[in-house]
Amino acid sequence: MPEYSNSQLGKFENCPLQYRLIYVDRIKRPEEGVEAFLGQRFHEAMEWLYRERAFRIIPLEELLGFYEAQWKAAWHAEVKITKKERRPDDYRLLGRRFIEDYYRRHQPFAEGRVLGLERYIQFPLAEGTRYACKGVIDRLMLAPDGAFEIHDYKTGAGLPVQAELDKDRQLALYQIGVQKLWPEAREVRLVWHLAAFDMEMRSARTAEALEGLKGEIMGLIDRIEAEREFGPRESALCDWCSYWDLCPAKKHLVKVEALPADRWKDEPGVAIVDAYGELYKKKREMKAELDVVEKELDEVEEAAIKFAEREGISVIAGTEQNLRVTGKEHMSAPAKGSKERAELEGELRALGVWDEVATLDTAALEKAMTEGRWGGEIVGRIKAYVSTEKRYTVKLKENG
Ligand code: SF4
Repeated sequence: MPEYSNSQLGKFENCPLQYRLIYVDRIKRPEEGVEAFLGQRFHEAMEWLYRERAFRIIPLEELLGFYEAQWKAAWHAEVKITKKERRPDDYRLLGRRFIEDYYRRHQPFAEGRVLGLERYIQFPLAEGTRYACKGVIDRLMLAPDGAFEIHDYKTGAGLPVQAELDKDRQLALYQIGVQKLWPEAREVRLVWHLAAFDMEMRSARTAEALEGLKGEIMGLIDRIEAEREFGPRESALCDWCSYWDLCPAKKHLVKVEALPADRWKDEPGVAIVDAYGELYKKKREMKAELDVVEKELDEVEEAAIKFAEREGISVIAGTEQNLRVTGKEHMSAPAKGSKERAELEGELRALGVWDEVATLDTAALEKAMTEGRWGGEIVGRIKAYVSTEKRYTVKLKENG
C-alpha cells in the first residue's frame, strides 16, 4: 500500500511531470535551492537544541557554532542560488539571524514536554481503506495543559496570513496521523515558527474539517493513481526545478543555452521560432489594419440599415453594386445559470420537448473528466463512448 506525504501530494498538484520524475521514475538530482539548504540547516539546529534540552540548555554561541559547522560540512557545488545578486554568505548569515531570534524568544525552551523530534509517522487515512499517508513532524510536544502540539519550522520569506494556515494541509494531515497513533491526543494545536519574521502562528482543526480533508486527500490519491499523462505544468516553481533537461517545456531551452551564441541561428528549432515570430508580427500588423477597415465597415453597415429603415426599402442601389438589407427576428434565451433559464428548462422538460432542443455540452464534459471531478467508475463508463485526438496550439512567449 503506497503512503503519500504532503509534499508528494503537493508536487503532483504543482506539476504532474515533476511528480513522476521524482516518485515514479525515482530520478535523483544533486541540485537543491539555497532556501531549502538553509531550511535544512535550521531544522538540524533546532533538533539538536531540543534533543540536548533533556540534559542541558545549549548556549547560543555553541548552537551557532553547530549551525556553522553543519553549513560548512553540507555545502556542495549544486546548491542553486536563483537570485543573481545574492551570495552563499547572505543566506548563511540569514540562517544565523533566524537562530538568534528563535533562541532569544524561546529560551529556556521549557514550553512543554518533547514527545518527538523529526518524528516519522505513517498511518492509514481511514480504517479499512487503501489510503495511507506519512510525514515527519519537526517537533511533537505535550503542552502543560495536556494538549498535543505539532510544531513546524518555516524559513521561507513569505508571511502566511492566518486564513492560509487555517487551511494548511500539511499540519492538519499530521494531526490526523497523531490522533490515529496516539488516541489520547484529544486536543491538538498546530504551531508554525516563522523564523524569517521571529513569529509564531497557531491554528486548530475541528473534527469535521479533518473529515473533509480526508475526503479531499483520498480524491487526490485517486487522481494520482488514475493519472496516465503526467504532463508538465509550468509555474513560478519551475525556477527551483532540477529536471529541466527532462521536461518538454524546458529541455530545448537548456539545449540552446548550451550552444555558443553564434551557433544559435543554425539550430533548427531556433530557426522555426524566429520565422514564426517574424510572420506573427506581420500578421499582427495586418490584423491592426483589418480591424480599422472592419470598424469602418460596421459604421457604414449601420448607416445602410438606418437608411433602409427610413426609406422603407430592402435593396439600396450603388454605382456598381446593390446592397441588400435583411432584417430577421432572433430569439435569445435567459443567461446560463440564471433563475429564468432554470425555469425555461423546467418548462421544456414538463412539456416533453427537452430532448429536441438539448445538446450535450462536450466542452463541459471534457472539463469535468480532466479536472478529476468525477470518480474512476463514472470516467471509465464515459470513456467507452468518447475518443481522443491530440490538438496542438502554438503560442509565442518572450524569453527571460
Ligand atoms: S520545469 Fe516546471 S514544468 Fe518542467 S517538470 Fe519542472 S516544474 Fe514541471
